[in-house]
This record gives sequence, structure tokens and C-alpha cells, in this order.
Amino acid sequence: MSSSSHDLPMIDQSEQQREEKMLADRMDQIGHKLLVLSGKGGVGKSTVAASLAIALARAGKKVGLLDIDVHGPSIPGIMGLVGQQLSLLGEEILPVGFKDGLAVMSIGFLLPSGREPVIWRGPRKYSLIRQFLKDVMWGQLDYLVVDSPPGTGDEPLSVTQLIGPRAEAIVVTTPQQVAVADVRRCISFCEAVSLPIRGILENMSGLVCPKCGEHIDLFKSGGGKALAEEMNVPLLGSIPIDPDVVTAGDAGAPPLDPDGQGPAARAFAAVVKTILAAHEAK
Ligand code: ADP
Repeated sequence: MSSSSHDLPMIDQSEQQREEKMLADRMDQIGHKLLVLSGKGGVGKSTVAASLAIALARAGKKVGLLDIDVHGPSIPGIMGLVGQQLSLLGEEILPVGFKDGLAVMSIGFLLPSGREPVIWRGPRKYSLIRQFLKDVMWGQLDYLVVDSPPGTGDEPLSVTQLIGPRAEAIVVTTPQQVAVADVRRCISFCEAVSLPIRGILENMSGLVCPKCGEHIDLFKSGGGKALAEEMNVPLLGSIPIDPDVVTAGDAGAPPLDPDGQGPAARAFAAVVKTILAAHEAK
């Protein structure tokens, strides 16, 4: 059977315009959008995204945390929100509430079981991310922190296309990986999509010996600083390896507790201060 233009679905332009406006209006209510990116997995990107959202909320800001890692959403686990259900209010989705006025949304809340893999192509991911931005009742926020999957694939691309103005990237890396092309690719990606970079955050940067307090560089040192200089991007700070981060993360407690006294928590608190100061200076 031959197809003609009559077989094509009619694109309802007014409906499309209405949806565009809904998305733009929703994104207009958000002060700053922080996209947490990394070149590779396992560098602590989700740990940083969750901790950043918690710290900003503790600082009195209204914050949303959006996890768009379709293939491995770890935010529900880190936040102690596994098994939470979403509810609808009319056509809008209510995010899951956390302490201190923090609203959380994750693809993990929609998946039936953490064991089943999600096999989705780009367009489907794009529409899901669009729905998470447009249909979630974020309300008026000072910050939306987005935990994006590692790399420069469909998810970070979709979110940068949809999120509108006042968005910036925080690139998380570890010292030994900064030599590799991944982080450079991540920074080049931001430049290609005109996403300003707030800075590089070097995680797992050495270990402070819990017994003697000596700093041991397990994975070399200075890589984040060298890369930041090379790429002309600010270095936001260096967070050491701290066994408390793993224990807290696994237990659903804030991994980098803004009020914590461990070496990683204190280094992270300084990073949060830098980010807040940069926005308050504007
Ligand atoms: P990613 O999102 O980049 O894949 P995660 O945030 O899931 O990485 O972190 C990977 C693992 O490393 C987790 O078990 C987390 O608790 C641990 N981790 C992250 N940052 C630190 C740190 N500074 N010290 C110790 N463990 C850390």
C-alpha cells in the first residue's frame, strides 16, 4: 500500500505551542539549573549531585533534584527514597518530598524493579526528560540540580536542549582520569551546546589517613588543577576519599553531609560556598 501525505498524523500546532509554553513557563520559575556531568561512571557524580542538592536546601534555598540516569538511577538509593511512589495532581506529577524543602524526581521511581534494564532509544529518553521538566510540579525553585548519566549521550544533550536559560555545568572527575580524553570531551560537549561551565570538581582526590591525618595521593594529584588550567575552566575544589561517604551513601544518609566534620564533608562545604557566592555576587 502506498503512503500519501493523508496517512501522516496531523501535527496539532496549537497543542505543540501550548506544550512549549508550559515547558518554558516551568523552567522560568527556576533560578539556577546545575547540570552535574562526568566523562566516566564511578567518579562520584551522583554523590555530588545529591549532596549538592541537600547542601543548597540546608542553606535555605528551595531546591529540586532531578535524576535522568535512565540506565542506572542511583538517586533514590543515595537519598534513602527507594520504593517511593509518585502521585499525580491533575496532569501534573508531584515530586517526592525530602527534608528541608527538597523535591526529588528520578526515573527510578517509575521502574518496577531495580533489576530490569531499561532499553530505550534517544527519542524516548528525550520525551521522558521533557516530561520530567515540563510535567513535574517543581514550583518556584532557587536551584534545580540535575544528575545526568556519564558521557555526552542522549540524556545530557536532551536536557541542555530543554532546560532553557540560567543552566550551567559542574564537571566531576577523579585525579587519575583527568589525563584521559573523557573529561576533555565533556568540556568540549558543554562548549558545543553553549552550556557555561561553573567548574571542575575533583573527587576522590587523595585519602586523609584516619589515624595520623596524613594526606596520601592514591590516584596521583594535581590532575584537576592542570586540566582546569589547560581548558580555562575554574577548579571548584578537591574532595578526598573518605570511608564515611560510602557508609552514608549506602545507608541513605547525606554522603557529603553539609554539617559533617570529616575531610570530604568539609572540602565539599567549601565547594558549595563557592557556588553560592558566585550566584549571590551576580
Ligand atoms: P557516579 O555517579 O559517578 O557513577 P557515585 O556517586 O555512584 O558515582 O559513586 C561511586 C561510589 O563511590 C559510591 O559507592 C560512592 O559512595 C563512592 N564515593 C563517591 N565519592 C567518594 C569519596 N569522596 N570518598 C569515598 N567514596 C566515594
